[in-house]
Amino acid sequence: MGNAAIPHWYEPKHEPDTFVEGEGARVYNDEGEEYLDFVSQLYCVNAGHSQQHIVDAMTEQAEKIPYVSSGSRNPQRDRLARRLTEKAPPNMSNVVFSISGSEANETAMQIVRDYQDAPKILTRWRSYHGATYGAGALTGEPSTRTVLEKHSAASGHAKFLPPLDFCGPFDADTPEELGEQAADHLEWVIRNEGPDSIAALFTEPIAGSSGAYPAPPGYFDRVREICDEHDILLVADEVITGFGRCGEWFGVQTEDLQPDVITFAKGVTSSYAPLAGAIVSEELGDYLEREGLPVGQTFAGHPVSCAAANAAMDVYGDGLIRNVRDLEGHLESHLRELEEFPKVAEVRGRGFLWSVDFGDPDAEDNAFLFDPRVDEGDNPIETLREHAHDRGVVFGAGRPDTQVLICPPLCATREEIDEAVDVLAESIDATF
Ligand code: PLP
Repeated sequence: MGNAAIPHWYEPKHEPDTFVEGEGARVYNDEGEEYLDFVSQLYCVNAGHSQQHIVDAMTEQAEKIPYVSSGSRNPQRDRLARRLTEKAPPNMSNVVFSISGSEANETAMQIVRDYQDAPKILTRWRSYHGATYGAGALTGEPSTRTVLEKHSAASGHAKFLPPLDFCGPFDADTPEELGEQAADHLEWVIRNEGPDSIAALFTEPIAGSSGAYPAPPGYFDRVREICDEHDILLVADEVITGFGRCGEWFGVQTEDLQPDVITFAKGVTSSYAPLAGAIVSEELGDYLEREGLPVGQTFAGHPVSCAAANAAMDVYGDGLIRNVRDLEGHLESHLRELEEFPKVAEVRGRGFLWSVDFGDPDAEDNAFLFDPRVDEGDNPIETLREHAHDRGVVFGAGRPDTQVLICPPLCATREEIDEAVDVLAESIDATF
């Protein structure tokens, strides 16, 4: 009685942990046991736990004035909007604040549909864009969709294949060819849906919870060209990839991709308080200033959250993003050693966002990689994560459940990376 509900997809085999303290990349439960948090809770505590600079900024703001409505101005909110547009790719001018990643995507949907006067949004299968009615309808990851479609009221959107060779009838010898073929397929989807009915294409620059997969070289150049050709806006969902996660302020900067909208959440405050939003292009910004925002939310751009975000941005700029750049090669090479294990099918990722995929690397039919339900009841990935947990390291569960996600706070050290990947290797050995 009276328990906080735990989402079923998050439910571990063991009793849920009660974490009571955190410090850097480590968290502590109510029995004083220490864990390396190599999933940053939900890929979101980018600055690490208990960064005093962020805590102080939140306290100071709460002492001054804790809340100011979104119809008024507040220095923290204004400063944050300025800094976000400065760090975003060129030509982005305005920020519309929101509260969660799902709501940031809902906000972006409202803006692009209004502006384009067109109803549909395109998203990739094997994507995650949120769990609310609107954002849930965008999510394309198979196991999550099965759950969300029962509830999603919004529809009228279309999905297209991600550039993953086991996800579609691709026949490519090189990553570049795969990117070309996936982009060709996208063009067919657009033609068949009717370009005039499509307001925007939403994409994670590097897919996050559905498998940490970066696009093949050249893919996003083609996607941008195709969107321009058909007058479709491109929205980058940076809820996971933003704020240093991939080694730049935003994931699109690792792809040299100019989006029309960036949606963000999680890392913006290092998740010390809820905050999200959409950074929009000058063209959309002018439109919003002319037409006004159709709707708003009470807690959008909450001043305490904006203070947390400004402080988190200080910490990212002062060295944490550099830490990711300095250590991503080390993390990658260490993870690639795991490819020696027969059941490791693929290691993928960028920056501090990686996935180890399990299955048979040589199988023609990679059903195991694709279908999350094959091992229902005794999913070996859960056994593996449980093993790692018992040895003091928390990893993420990818969707589908054939992956382990490695997503440490950006402050993780070389020694912590070594410790975590050694435990992962031990856990693979013990499980398969
Ligand atoms: N978009 C992406 C890429 C995400 O990974 C998530 C959450 O994990 C969301 C949107 C939804 O964010 P929230 O859980 O804050 O609603």
